[in-house]
Amino acid sequence: GGRMTGHDPIDEWAPQGIDVTVPSVARVYDAMLGGKDNFASDRAVADKIRSVLPVSAESAGEHRALLARAVRFLAAQGIDQFLDLGSGLPTVQNTHQVAQAANSAARVVYVDNDPMVLTHGRALLTGDSGTAVITADVRDPEDVFARPEVRELIDLERPLGLMMVGVIHHLGDDDDPAGLIKRYVDRIAPGSYLFLSHFQADPPITDRMEQVFLQMLGSGRFRTKAEIEAYFDGLELVEPGVVDIPLWRPDRPITRPLAADDPNRLIATGVARKA
Ligand code: SAM
Repeated sequence: GGRMTGHDPIDEWAPQGIDVTVPSVARVYDAMLGGKDNFASDRAVADKIRSVLPVSAESAGEHRALLARAVRFLAAQGIDQFLDLGSGLPTVQNTHQVAQAANSAARVVYVDNDPMVLTHGRALLTGDSGTAVITADVRDPEDVFARPEVRELIDLERPLGLMMVGVIHHLGDDDDPAGLIKRYVDRIAPGSYLFLSHFQADPPITDRMEQVFLQMLGSGRFRTKAEIEAYFDGLELVEPGVVDIPLWRPDRPITRPLAADDPNRLIATGVARKA
């Protein structure tokens, strides 16, 4: 902080304590989705991603469509409380809107380590007592579960929807994603579901994508389908298992396999139940 320029229009609306010159994952994703909560540094990364893979914007939209389908599926299984880890900046069809459309009593806690998610999330959630947003690092489950908002809104004795949507690929291998996921799964009640999506390694295109992410954002690991499937170890995967995002319970049947270069193959997803 401490910058006192005052004349730069960006300074007027950039939340305090945010360095707009350093791109953030949440803001780059917002830029990919065509949102407005991003800065030039973020748009530069989004442009670079699009230059490597021109249709990747389509895949970001497909990812949000998946989120709505999966949250509706969980609500249909009777899930009425959600812990949305790495929730991102508010955009269209956020978890609480989809969940509350199915069940107005549904509760959602959003968790993200980007401070802008908190300020924008609070603005969106004013007056909604069933929903909260907290700033925390998903790599610290003890901290997440100890937060007053989580304790107040989420009953760990009852089934919940544990969401790790587009976030685990921003953790490094040294963060031990599989071990971390298990620490969350160990805490949730039988009948709970894990909904996870993840960048999928499918060379050669993802090699270059991974380089762009790591160089410009410092995170973004494309892992193999086998690695992603292993994140569901000990849980019962619901049909159709771990698949490319458009193939997960599509609203309209998809009759032919995705082309090898289809951008929607960049992310794989699955939903699994804890017995
Ligand atoms: N889940 C949303 C969706 O799928 O539309 C947003 C996905 S966005 C690609 C990934 C989000 O994870 C970003 O908002 C980023 O700030 C957040 N994130 C990355 N690493 C995190 C960490 N260690 N703790 C908490 N949030 C994190």
